[in-house]
Amino acid sequence: MPSIRDLHEQLVKKERSAVEITQAALDRIAAVDGKVQSFLCVTADKALEQARAVDAKIAAGENIGILAGIPIGIKDNMCTQGIPTTCASRILENFIPPYESTVTQKLFAAGAVMVGKTNLDEFAMGGSTETSAYKQTANPWDLSRVPGGSSGGSAAAVAAGECVVSLGSDTGGSIRQPASFCGVVGIKPTYGLVSRYGLVAFASSLDQIGPFSRSVEDAAILLNGIAGYDAKDSTSLKVEIPDYTANLQPDLKSYGKSHGKKIRIGIIRETFGEGLDSQVEQAVNKAIEQLKDLGAEIVEISCPRFRYGLPSYYIIAPSEASANLARYDGVKYGVRAEDADNLLSMYNRTRANGFGAEVKRRIMIGTYALSAGYYDAYYLKAQKVRTLIKQDFENAFAQVDVLVSPVAPTTAFKAGEKTTDPLSMYLIDLMTIPVNLAGLPGISVPCGFDDAGMPIGLQLIGNVLQEEKLFQVAYAYEQSTDWHLREPKIG
Ligand code: GLN
Repeated sequence: MPSIRDLHEQLVKKERSAVEITQAALDRIAAVDGKVQSFLCVTADKALEQARAVDAKIAAGENIGILAGIPIGIKDNMCTQGIPTTCASRILENFIPPYESTVTQKLFAAGAVMVGKTNLDEFAMGGSTETSAYKQTANPWDLSRVPGGSSGGSAAAVAAGECVVSLGSDTGGSIRQPASFCGVVGIKPTYGLVSRYGLVAFASSLDQIGPFSRSVEDAAILLNGIAGYDAKDSTSLKVEIPDYTANLQPDLKSYGKSHGKKIRIGIIRETFGEGLDSQVEQAVNKAIEQLKDLGAEIVEISCPRFRYGLPSYYIIAPSEASANLARYDGVKYGVRAEDADNLLSMYNRTRANGFGAEVKRRIMIGTYALSAGYYDAYYLKAQKVRTLIKQDFENAFAQVDVLVSPVAPTTAFKAGEKTTDPLSMYLIDLMTIPVNLAGLPGISVPCGFDDAGMPIGLQLIGNVLQEEKLFQVAYAYEQSTDWHLREPKIG
């Protein structure tokens, strides 16, 4: 699949039309999605209509933006007007949003072409896309393995060449971990950088939308298209949005020159050692060596409270989820149990039939942690731990520009391997969760493959609103490797 810039050039030079590009993506979906199962719904008619509008602009001699005519997949927890938005849940099986989320509205205004809505863990709760009520997405590199989650459909769709870029959401790692498992780039921006208006809420203090792509430059281009203040989201940041592609240089020496000192990258000591797969460790260490060769100064950093991230997240996220999911009661929208004889039993049956096991588990943990007798012991304590983790990052960023770690302790595992043991599934998020708790940006870039041929990801973490620096480091690293150029052979 060509890059956004290549496709843009082809369009501008009239070598290919937007309809041809869109049709190629739709053909690819038809050819491989029976195996990969990235999409919950393919929006071919809308895609071709959007593509025709771009072609009409080109024919009329109008300028088109860089995202015009680019096929894109949207995680099915972002509202798309007139198009089903299910969150991979039975309870929203019949939900057709009457409004457009800010991200899709921005992308459509820029001429992007939506080819479909991608599969996810139900309400984005999970790490393998296996809690989807509708289908199991496969990892394009090995169809017997999971694509990661919860944005597994969006990651797999890009890896399988079914679209050029896609959007996911990341509450505890759901962009970075599937990006790592599928060998693509995924970035979770700073909390509040991208509007969450129209994103179905999971844990509101953690959720953030971000891009998946084959290359760092494509991710930067897509983030340019979706970042920015939105009055419809009260947590949206009112900040100047830079051009995220402006500092993409093939090495880090120019950073050194313009800043009078080398860029400092800190290895988070606590993310190495016990529990980390040795091949993942090797690949990440090699990547760190490469960053040094590219002109970075490498130091070791300790974040001692990092390990409390996981337990505090699994109190905070379910607590917020239990409140957010209270709205699915069969009254306002979504599925309603029709066989109930009074209001209470209608609520109960709607929720009992509508939610899957993992969602119910989270609701139960959340309501328990928030209940009067336990609030102080669990929720309040978890929030205090969250502050300590933030302090660890503040200390770290007083010493370095960017932090580095593995994305996940392992590569993609076999489907079914962890479904009976929720705790083992939760442990996958060990290294991504602290970043959400602190509201920071984090990117996953491909940094190798294990012996089974499964991709490995490198996580780079920046301070608040330091996306530019993250892209700069990620790009320099990417350009010195060929991991991102490899493609899976599907089937
Ligand atoms: N896997 C984590 C969870 O299950 C993170 C999910 C996410 O980021 N949406 O909560």
